[in-house]
Amino acid sequence: MGITVYRRTTQIAFILLVFLMPVLNIFRYDTATKELIIFGQVWSLGLKEAFYADHSMRAAGHVALQFFLKAILPWIVFLAIFPLLGFLTGRFFCGWFCPEGTLFELADNLTLKLLGRRSLFNKRPNDPEVSGERELLYIVIALMSMAVLPLIGGVALTGYLVAPKTIWAQIMSWDFTFGVKAGIIGVSIYMLVTSILVRHSLCKYICAAGLMQMLFGWVSPVSLRVRMDLSRADECTNCRGCEKACFMNVLPRMNKRDISCVNCGACVAACNKELGAGKGLFHFQSGEKKTVTECENMSDNALSEHCKKTAIHLRT
Ligand code: SF4
Ligand code: SF4
Repeated sequence: MGITVYRRTTQIAFILLVFLMPVLNIFRYDTATKELIIFGQVWSLGLKEAFYADHSMRAAGHVALQFFLKAILPWIVFLAIFPLLGFLTGRFFCGWFCPEGTLFELADNLTLKLLGRRSLFNKRPNDPEVSGERELLYIVIALMSMAVLPLIGGVALTGYLVAPKTIWAQIMSWDFTFGVKAGIIGVSIYMLVTSILVRHSLCKYICAAGLMQMLFGWVSPVSLRVRMDLSRADECTNCRGCEKACFMNVLPRMNKRDISCVNCGACVAACNKELGAGKGLFHFQSGEKKTVTECENMSDNALSEHCKKTAIHLRT
């Protein structure tokens, strides 16, 4: 199985997980009862009323400990997730799991099929060529996606604040409370606008999770990166498949640390397709190790003439 199949699988699985968490009571906040539910249990400080009446040092210590364990520690763990992910894996989460990233990729691909470019606004040099066949089919898919996906997202995400069975009952009776209506419509509009107009700019400049991974991945000496094996650069056919595969508009052959790279591996797959399975010039690696980033700094023997020309050509 190719890298693209693995990636689509993780993306779909994560979307299902996000959608099902409130339904299965794995995680949701019920605004009606004002209860946080985690794995079917109401999350509370676990303090009985008697403790608040007890002013002894022992009771105060117990309250402080419970508060730390049940309120502060979970927040610390939660807030540390994305910096830690970034430090170890760069923006791997963005490329392999993020539901928004998946939605934006779908929008890119449909736009490409319909307009011959990924963006609504302009054609980029790395936009792949498309055949223009089955246009009608893609128009239907695009219209259905625009109508259905934001609504499904709206219903699913509103479930994090309103009990899913309450939402379902309101859908069945077509009689909505203001909160449910606002949740579904608000999320739907957000999804529609971001997937049509904003797309990956949101990942680059707005998303807090993306920015955390970007920052910590950038400074980390060990974070996961996609690297080109420059010692084999003379095997490059200059097909530009790697550049065309990159929906983040990175130039993978530049081999530099690019904060936009989401470690999706699309360039890895594209080069494997061009040069043969397992023979592509890109690979994932942790940290810099001994890869070459500055052609000029290398000794004459370290790189072939072709490699030097390629690297210099790519940089200009
Ligand atoms: S450079 Fe490669 S791994 Fe990084 S975003 Fe582009 S295609 Fe994905
Ligand atoms: S996909 Fe591979 S062979 Fe084609 S341009 Fe990129 S590095 Fe060269």
